[in-house]
Amino acid sequence: MSSHTGKLWIVGFGPGSAEHITARALTAIQASDVVIGYNTYVDLVRHLLTHQEVVRTGMTEEVSRAQAAVELAQQGKAVAVISSGDAGVYGMAGLVYEVLVEQGWQEGDNPEVEVVPGISAIHSCAALLGAPIMHDACTISLSDHLTPWDVIARRVEAAAAADFVIALYNPKSGRRTEQIVETQRILLRHRSPSTPVGLVKSAYRDRQRVDVTTLADMLDYEIGMLTTVIIGNSQTFVHGQKLITPRGYQRKYDLRETEQRLRPGERLRPEHEPWALHQGRSRGQG
Ligand code: SAH
Repeated sequence: MSSHTGKLWIVGFGPGSAEHITARALTAIQASDVVIGYNTYVDLVRHLLTHQEVVRTGMTEEVSRAQAAVELAQQGKAVAVISSGDAGVYGMAGLVYEVLVEQGWQEGDNPEVEVVPGISAIHSCAALLGAPIMHDACTISLSDHLTPWDVIARRVEAAAAADFVIALYNPKSGRRTEQIVETQRILLRHRSPSTPVGLVKSAYRDRQRVDVTTLADMLDYEIGMLTTVIIGNSQTFVHGQKLITPRGYQRKYDLRETEQRLRPGERLRPEHEPWALHQGRSRGQG
């Protein structure tokens, strides 16, 4: 092993278009000696590659990809492991750290590690849909390759019951087709069939497609490996082709008034927020 300290960048390059990659991600890819990633991801950043050695791998080879990245960086190379979106959201960041921890790596050891944040699908897809995740939202991956279905189903149930806006990642693939059907069934136990749903395929890439539908009808639309499904909460409404979730449940503003009922500073008074938690209890609950 070289005594020269290597650098391991774990990079999220955003949804896929050149405009949505961060400056830091660009720097990382351009300054690296080796770029490692799933074939499709390497293709999406090909225009940025000049001198870099490229290690392409298939989709199910995440573990060997992480191990190769760590090994090359330990040899003193600058290595960029790339993920679409954010590398810390169903990406490579966790796996790379798991490999390092397994080897006894500590902060300050070789290699130096930097995770570079990127725009995850929940954010790129929400932007195309308008403003669906204005309120509390969560992401759930429907892929049961690495997670037992029972765990996933429990999370869908909990998120549905708690009225979260939900972004479903990995909703469906060629072989995994039942998960989205079962998910719709669980959601319908808690939410109205008319709940707005946005389907975004290939956000900010060629063949981008945006569909706005409802919880009842969502399965009539094309859903695939490159689709993110955003389920509105009980307040979400549709305007044209946009999904809009209000900023709050209890409206403290009236958009038809030029002057708001409450002056700045008055909004936060306890008497104007009877539904809030006041000294251990919500007044709304009596
Ligand atoms: N790290 C990625 C997620 C990888 S999991 C991120 O942060 O975005 C793969 C899933 O992400 C896909 O099944 C899809 O649900 C979602 N996804 C990734 N890129 C997308 C895009 N450009 N448009 C729509 N969905 C996308």
